[in-house]
Amino acid sequence: MSEVINFFQYYEKHNKLDGCLSYNHSLAKSSWLGVGGQAEVFYLCENNEQLIDILNELPSKFKRTIIGQGSNLLIRDGGIKGLVIKLGKKYQCIGLEDKALTIGAAALDKVVARFCEKNSIGGLEFLSGIPGNIGGAVAMNAGCFGGEINDVFISAEGIDYLGNVCNINKSVSLFEYRKNNNADNIIFTKIKLNAINKKQDLIKEKMDEINDKRSLAQPKGIRTGGSTFKNPDSKITLMKAWELIQKTESHKILFDGVSFSAKHSNFIENRQTNSANRIEDFCNLVKNNILDKLGIELDLEIKILGER
Ligand SMILES: Cc1cc2nc3c(=O)[nH]c(=O)nc-3n(C[C@H](O)[C@H](O)[C@H](O)COP(=O)(O)OP(=O)(O)OC[C@H]3O[C@@H](n4cnc5c(N)ncnc54)[C@H](O)[C@@H]3O)c2cc1C
Repeated sequence: MSEVINFFQYYEKHNKLDGCLSYNHSLAKSSWLGVGGQAEVFYLCENNEQLIDILNELPSKFKRTIIGQGSNLLIRDGGIKGLVIKLGKKYQCIGLEDKALTIGAAALDKVVARFCEKNSIGGLEFLSGIPGNIGGAVAMNAGCFGGEINDVFISAEGIDYLGNVCNINKSVSLFEYRKNNNADNIIFTKIKLNAINKKQDLIKEKMDEINDKRSLAQPKGIRTGGSTFKNPDSKITLMKAWELIQKTESHKILFDGVSFSAKHSNFIENRQTNSANRIEDFCNLVKNNILDKLGIELDLEIKILGER
């Protein structure tokens, strides 16, 4: 039995657990791409104090990983070593005080958007079109159709991987395009966002527009991870990632059940269920094809976790 599993079996024996621990837990269902290996230890966490205690007690040699809804994750077939943490239902509360929304990090973006519509709060309509939860959105500076987390973020409460409580306030260098410069080794637990009044019918109109555009431009009911590659820096090229994919005919590559979507050439469609590594190989093939043909190196937007 692995050392980390031994540690948690001992921990479970000696502590009342608020949440759920499982061992050699399959993560395929925890990723929108529907493939991936196992977490050595998986902890569905329902309590800050217990999370702090576990992170304090767990020897630092064991790896820690936080995941959200897995809508931006490719988990390799060899799985994730150490402890994988996911926040449970107790982290889904949404409240409104003093022109600010306080949101548990596990609240789904769509649910936050619906709450905003109901309470006439504008500026967060973009969340209605993004799968995932608000912790993942803050970690990724998620956004679409002209809005992103950076525009509305006030602060976040979190716990670092060693169990220290931390507060992260907005600063000029906190967010970049699809990146949070303070997300490594921090588990966001509660998020505070700006709440600005807006007429409900205007909010609804904007959300309908976003969702109509998404239905036309994105695959539905298929295993995907959203945008595979980030758009390159405008100093390098003004072309978007999907345009570079098309220009190099990478959208025509079929790779054992993995290809780009006919609706959106930067969205992968995964039609096979036995290999996450194959998706990574497909990404590398496309990346090299674009580099060879155009001399442009694309960065992945999808996060790859775990061992091959
Ligand atoms: C169909 C589809 C459409 C999409 N459209 C968009 C879009 O329009 N715009 C866009 O920006 N993205 C889009 N995405 C990508 C994805 O939905 C976003 O990046 C989303 O914010 C990820 O949230 P998640 O909860 O699924 O995080 P995960 O995918 O589980 O994790 C993503 C990253 O966030 C970290 N993370 C998750 N939770 C926490 C936490 N509580 N604390 C600290 N770090 C955390 C993880 O460690 C990981 O590094 C799309 C994806 C799909 C499948």
